[in-house]
Amino acid sequence: MPSKSILSCWFRRWVGRLTIASEQTQAYQLGVAYLERVQSILPDPQMVDVKSNLRDRVSICNWIGKQIETVNRSLQLHLNACHECFNPGDRRSIQIFAVPFAASVQLDGFCNINANPIAILVDVGRVAPPDWLALVAHEYAHAHLGYPGHDRQYTQVLSHLCLGLGFAQPSFSPDDRSIYCWPPYSSSIDPLAWWRGES
Ligand SMILES: [Zn+2]
Repeated sequence: MPSKSILSCWFRRWVGRLTIASEQTQAYQLGVAYLERVQSILPDPQMVDVKSNLRDRVSICNWIGKQIETVNRSLQLHLNACHECFNPGDRRSIQIFAVPFAASVQLDGFCNINANPIAILVDVGRVAPPDWLALVAHEYAHAHLGYPGHDRQYTQVLSHLCLGLGFAQPSFSPDDRSIYCWPPYSSSIDPLAWWRGES
């Protein structure tokens, strides 16, 4: 017969494995719920398409369930830094979320001016953490103005933000297309690696 200590050791290992499995299930469910929530804020829910990614969906949802609050807290700090560039009375009500955009979405960040409050959604997997503020500032200028264009007024608001946040000034030339991704930043090679928890 196995001794009492061997049995209790086996029991502890078994309980440990069960606890890890139930924590994973909980994280997965939190991840799925989060993705559904951000999908409801986007004009087209297909802009996020983790479900059909059979290879990565479990690891992505698990990672989101465990880490998304920390990531969104960082984004909120960046949003607050942008707010600080304006008088309290001029600040709009804006919410911000990290989101893994589908590969078909050719955007690193998106501002949904029709959401209430206005929503900034940022694919933090496509941009390295030191560049998140640049991406948030770009989308913040859209949110502040309430429209998606990159006209002179947009350039002025972004200029004001760049001054406050320490970025180089954007060009005011109408032919200069650098305004579409100003302030400049570099893109990640494998955006989903971040969302799988590999970065
Ligand atoms: Zn833009």
